[in-house]
Amino acid sequence: NYQLSDRVNAIQPSPTLAVSQKAAELKAAGHDVIGLGVGEPDFDTPAFVKDAAKAAIDAGHTKYTAVDGILDLKKAVIAKLNRDNQLDYQVNQILISAGGKHSIFNLLSAWLNPGDEVLIPAPYWVSYPDMSLLVGAEPKFIPAGIEQRYKINAEQLEAAITPKTRLLFLNSPSNPTGTAYTAAELRKLAEVLVNYPDILIATDDMYEHILWSQEPFANIAMVAPELRDRIVVLSGVSKAYAMTGWRIGYAAGPAPIIAAMKKIQSQSTSNPASISQYAALAALNGDQSCINEMVTAFKQRHDYLVEALNQIPGVQCIAGDGTFYTFANIDGLMAAKSCSTDVELCEQILNDAKVALVPGSAFGAPGHCRFSFACSMETLQEAVRRIAAFAQIK
Ligand code: PLP
Repeated sequence: NYQLSDRVNAIQPSPTLAVSQKAAELKAAGHDVIGLGVGEPDFDTPAFVKDAAKAAIDAGHTKYTAVDGILDLKKAVIAKLNRDNQLDYQVNQILISAGGKHSIFNLLSAWLNPGDEVLIPAPYWVSYPDMSLLVGAEPKFIPAGIEQRYKINAEQLEAAITPKTRLLFLNSPSNPTGTAYTAAELRKLAEVLVNYPDILIATDDMYEHILWSQEPFANIAMVAPELRDRIVVLSGVSKAYAMTGWRIGYAAGPAPIIAAMKKIQSQSTSNPASISQYAALAALNGDQSCINEMVTAFKQRHDYLVEALNQIPGVQCIAGDGTFYTFANIDGLMAAKSCSTDVELCEQILNDAKVALVPGSAFGAPGHCRFSFACSMETLQEAVRRIAAFAQIK
């Protein structure tokens, strides 16, 4: 009987990884399981990125680098933020870390004290609450339902702010809902935030490039220049370049906050893998058409899936703006199957239809489930056939 820390006892293991694990167990036992739980592109890392990594090994870039990342990669991030987002940063405002998750964790560790409140619009990406708890802070949720396309508005934000609020998370396009904030919507949120100078805003732009809405991508730093000294932009190469395994993320923000995050990184992980940094450098500076090919495929699958799911009795979903997820309301199907929770329904779907999904309660939105369409169209069609058949059986 080991007495583990209060810190670790306060959190749950990542629920998305738990579903993948359960699906893997069923597969290993010989079942033909379709995994729609995954959070990574099914595409291969572009060849020119792999080549850059091989060249980095041959050139001997296999030693420690600067704790905050190699200068060329920091410059590539600066160039990217300038090119895509019209944002200007200096080298001391950039930190390269071991994946987007690591960037977020560094930020929370550097910024939050026990008792501080973190505002998290729900549905949310699974890690925000638990990472907040890990540093002793308190997650506070702002629920946004399907009728508001799962996006919070200015009134809700205003009502959720207390004297203890220190951080707001924004994630657009969103994992799990696939919806994105427009520039006008972000502007309205910004107009609330100008009145609360103690709140830092973390904009998680991980899915920036996986977007097909009419509106171009916007984050709050782009629409609210007056807030820029309180905004940290978080992103990485994992999703846009199919580089989840390479573990490179980055943060851009006020120099003192970036310096504090770097201090934490220097005493925990040190630099992210040198070879991965050279690969990310090639990805950011290289031909960006690899992204378009993936986005075209994701959009096709999205259109198919949203329409097909809406034809299944008890399932309702809205068209997303981007990402490779669809978030479906399954209240009707839960009732038809006499399931009192989405977790129970997802378990039934996994056991009976052999399709792995992540229950919405993992994202703070009970009564839903998340479908990832990072798989071939054929796989998706088969998954829909199975779930439709499952829904028909009384
Ligand atoms: N932010 C969001 C919204 C994500 O969905 C993910 C990955 O699932 C991350 C951050 C973290 O990405 P990484 O794999 O680079 O740690």
